[in-house]
Parts: sequence; C-alpha cells; structure tokens
Amino acid sequence: MKPKKNIETLKSYHVNESKYHVKLDANESNNFLFEHSSLSDLKGINLYPDNEASQLKDKIIQLYPITKKEVTFGNGSSELLDLLVKSYVNPKEVILSFEPSFSMYPIYAALYDATYIPVPSEKDFSLSIDLMISYAHKFHPKLIFICSPNNPTGYLIPKKDIVKLISSTEAMVLVDEAYMEFSSVENSLVSEINQYKNLVIVRTFSKAFGLAGIRLGYMIASKDIIDVIEKVKAPYALNTLSQTLGLKALDNYERVLKHVSEVKKRRETLSQSLKDLGFKVYPSEGNFVFTYVTIPNLDEKLIQKGILIRAFSNTLNNYYRITVGTSEAHDILIQALKEIKDEKLSD
Ligand SMILES: *Cc1c(COP(=O)(O)O)cnc(C)c1O
Repeated sequence: MKPKKNIETLKSYHVNESKYHVKLDANESNNFLFEHSSLSDLKGINLYPDNEASQLKDKIIQLYPITKKEVTFGNGSSELLDLLVKSYVNPKEVILSFEPSFSMYPIYAALYDATYIPVPSEKDFSLSIDLMISYAHKFHPKLIFICSPNNPTGYLIPKKDIVKLISSTEAMVLVDEAYMEFSSVENSLVSEINQYKNLVIVRTFSKAFGLAGIRLGYMIASKDIIDVIEKVKAPYALNTLSQTLGLKALDNYERVLKHVSEVKKRRETLSQSLKDLGFKVYPSEGNFVFTYVTIPNLDEKLIQKGILIRAFSNTLNNYYRITVGTSEAHDILIQALKEIKDEKLSD
C-alpha cells in the first residue's frame, strides 16, 4: 500500500527520549497550577505527553495477536480515519462504502477531494459483499470503508465475507469495529491482520468502554501503514489525561466485558419492548437498535418529553436509531412511546 507521494518521503517528528535529571529541551514548565491537586491524573501534565503512547501499546497488545509496531492510538478513531484518508487517498481516487453507514465516511472523502461512491444495502439492510466486490471491480477504489457491526443498522458482516472482499481487491479495506465488543470476538478481523497487507482496523474507547469524552481510539494494521499514520499525525496529539485514563480502563477490562454483556441483555429487552409497541426492529450487534415506525415526527414528539433518539432523513424517513441505555432510561422511553401512541389514537 503506497501512501501519497508527498508523504512517502516525510520523516517523523523527532522526540528526544534520553534519560534526564534536568529537562530544558521542550519549553515546558513545572506544574504550578495543579501541583497540590488531589487528582493524581494531573501529575505529569506539565510535560508533553508520550508521543508513542508506549504504555498504552504495551497494554493493548495483550488483548490481540499483534506487536507494538502494528498499533497506533489517536484522538478517537475519528482522527485515525481522517489520517488514513489524508495519507493514502489522492484527489479523484475512489472511496466505496455501503449505505446507510457511518455518516462521516463521505465527509472524509469530500475533505480530501476523493470520489465517494455509495453501495446500496439490501431491502432488509443486510449488506451484500458480492455487490461490494462487483463495485470494487468496476470502480477500482483506493479505499473501501466497512463498518461492522454497521452504524446505524446494527448489521454484522460475517467475517468470511470481509475476508472474501479483502482477498479479491487491491484496495485498502478499512474495517471500522467501533461496536465489535457488542458482537463477539470471533467476528473481529484482528486475527487476520498478519495475512493481509491491505487490511486496516479501527477500534474505540468511546462505546464499549463508556469513555467517549476522553477521545481515544486505535488502529491495527501492518507496520508499514502504522508508520505512515504516525508520521502524518500531529506531534503529541494524544494528551496525557487520555493516555492515563486509557491505561486505567484497560486495567479494568473485566469490568468492561461485564458492562458489554449487560448492554447486550438490555438490547434484547429494549428490542422486545419496541416490538410489543408495533415497531419493526432490526437485529443489532451494536449498543443500539435500528427501528422503523410510522408515527409522524416521532423524534420531535420525544424531544418535547426531553428524550433524544436519532432520526434520519430522505430514504430513511421513519427509521430511528435508539441507543441501549439503562433500564430506567428504557422505562421512561417506553412510557413516553405509549403516551405518544395513545395521543395518536385519540386524535
Ligand atoms: C462512534 C463511532 C466511531 C467512534 O469515533 P471516536 O472518534 O472513536 O469516538 C467510529 N466509527 C463509527 C462507525 C462509530 O459509530
């Protein structure tokens, strides 16, 4: 996989990592504002962060069959998706993605003047890998975005299908596994990373770890691709607080797994409650459900009651994505939906 010409010859930002007694090389200061803070996470914030996020890498590789050279961290997976397109896709080159999928993919394509071509879903929102392969053969994309489990539909693309796609195209295949924890480990493509040079995976701490506010994501790919991303990334992009909290999160991985299994249970109860109210609910492998109902402006009626769900426009009018929340949040939502339905009947 060749990056863009201007990037091939770039050298990465050099950080002096020698041991020291006195550090006067980077225009930092002492921690005078917060030195007496009770928050131990604030220690060390007077210095620039570890540019390599080395401790995070040491910890994350314990979860996967990868080495430190095959992973890099970013300010959310959003930054890594942006850097990938920025580094590899030349203007006018083609990017493919299924639709509907993550709304940011066409935006990254537009930002770098790429040609974005959507590949339609089936009627039930399942995704045909053979259709994607036929588009790939026709349009010769540089990059294919695959979101699995797919946001917003919750559809999981079987691993063997993604492998079939990767092995039948020259394109780089980015598999966005933001929701994979809510599916099951054997569906992840991480185990294939050493097999395919054109496979790139991104993961995030925003969903299963419940840490959307710390902006932490990671990319798993061949060393060559990781090297390019690290060259292009802004120096010290990943702040010390996010790195510290990310490490703590990984120390509590068992707790994350427990949370995930609870969310999966509540996903089923929420789906059932919605079905009982006459909603069409699609099978989901994410921490959300995708649903169809013909109550005009349902999202606005819910806003009146202080409840937010995600609505869609155009061809997805009357479709909604509802995040799996706490049991209390579900009770409030279901009660509100009953009231809205009753109002509709009495109109
Ligand atoms: C939420 C989400 C992300 C995560 O973005 P972060 O920048 O890591 O918070 C990435 N991809 C998809 C499809 C998502 O839904």
